[in-house]
Amino acid sequence: MLDLIVRGGQVVTPGGVRRCDLGIEGGVIRALEEELLEAARAEHDASGLHVLPGLVDAHVHFNEPGRGDWEGLNTGSSALLAGGGTTFGDMPLNSDPPLLDARTFAAKLEAAQAHSHADFAFWGGLTPLNLDCLPELAGAGVLGFKAFMSGSGIPEFPASDEATLREGMRLSAALGLPVAVHAESDALTVRLSAGLNRPGATWRDYLNSRPVQAELEAISLALELARETGCRLHVVHVSSGAGAALIAQARAEGVDVSAETCPHYLSFTEQDLERLGAALKCAPPLRPREVLDELWAAVVGGDIQTIGSDHSPCPPGLKTSSNPFEVWGGIAGVQSSLPALLTHGPRHGLSLTRLAELTASAPARRFGLAGKGEVGVGFDADLVLVDLDARTELQAADLLNRWPGTSPYLGQTFTGRVVSTWLRGVRAFAGGRIDPAVRGRLIRPG
Ligand code: ZN
Repeated sequence: MLDLIVRGGQVVTPGGVRRCDLGIEGGVIRALEEELLEAARAEHDASGLHVLPGLVDAHVHFNEPGRGDWEGLNTGSSALLAGGGTTFGDMPLNSDPPLLDARTFAAKLEAAQAHSHADFAFWGGLTPLNLDCLPELAGAGVLGFKAFMSGSGIPEFPASDEATLREGMRLSAALGLPVAVHAESDALTVRLSAGLNRPGATWRDYLNSRPVQAELEAISLALELARETGCRLHVVHVSSGAGAALIAQARAEGVDVSAETCPHYLSFTEQDLERLGAALKCAPPLRPREVLDELWAAVVGGDIQTIGSDHSPCPPGLKTSSNPFEVWGGIAGVQSSLPALLTHGPRHGLSLTRLAELTASAPARRFGLAGKGEVGVGFDADLVLVDLDARTELQAADLLNRWPGTSPYLGQTFTGRVVSTWLRGVRAFAGGRIDPAVRGRLIRPG
């Protein structure tokens, strides 16, 4: 007997969207048929709704232990579920201390097992301080290693110079794990910032300190090192069509590289930053409208492989400086990824099948998360049920992350509402609330 049948939804599979029933047993999808006649202990009516794979958000900063007051694992994972996500890949910063060795991995694991409502995986850090720890991190089960090619803003997580990155990539290739890079040229951004960061600096000055050129220079170097070392490379938060094109060209030449972008680069422009300010500060920064359109074309056309939220929050007090250079950077958007993509995607030609690939199956495949990312027989029953016709204006009260007031999406009207989210066959979110009894577990790549 099945545990659960989810009946009558429009199911988004890699082969297309079709109305069918899902049979679930032991947290796994056992059947996917037009009409399931088997008996089940429970049934759930999904008619009128679309059933997508729960998001595999491989790029979040849930900063516990150490900076749980910025974002904790309880609040962060709750917001993820409320936004239709079921698995997250947590970045090694801004936990304190950052995740740089087996000891800090163990501390993170303990915190996540105690507080996370969604399944989780961890990135280890790659810095000049911890090259000797990469093997022990691989042994502990990290997804891969995250490096910054420019300053991270956290002194305990220094940027990797070229020699560090080369050695880190060589080691990672031997360990069979990818390296993810924050790609902005340190030399260029430091030089430009030195001239522009002055009393009375404006958001335009901040934008001018981090041009697309800084991204292109860093991506070029990372691609060159990936070619040289044979390391699998993942470029996070690509902000420009030109950056995506550089990566696509290297892929065509045989470099094992993937590109991620984030919903905020697809939703907001630099004019929005100048209007809204601190809530939209990120690095690389938002771009002009024509670059946003190029990036959409890369997302739809295949030059971008994954979408992650880069949910990177901080307490509101760090967002108040009148000098844009001193405002803490990072956008708190984990709960809004899916609604933002459902709202803006159709205008740019994004199909539901492609959306599911970008947000779930592609990151699961790229990072070796077996059983995740797809609505299909044999996969975990990680599901999000969406009402595509619902229109809702986002209110702070809807957001479950630590600091709802810092969301740049507040007041936006989204088309498409997350009705419920299911983790391994258990309803973890519905009616605006998390089931506090639901617990996530560690997913190791393999
Ligand atoms: Zn990030």
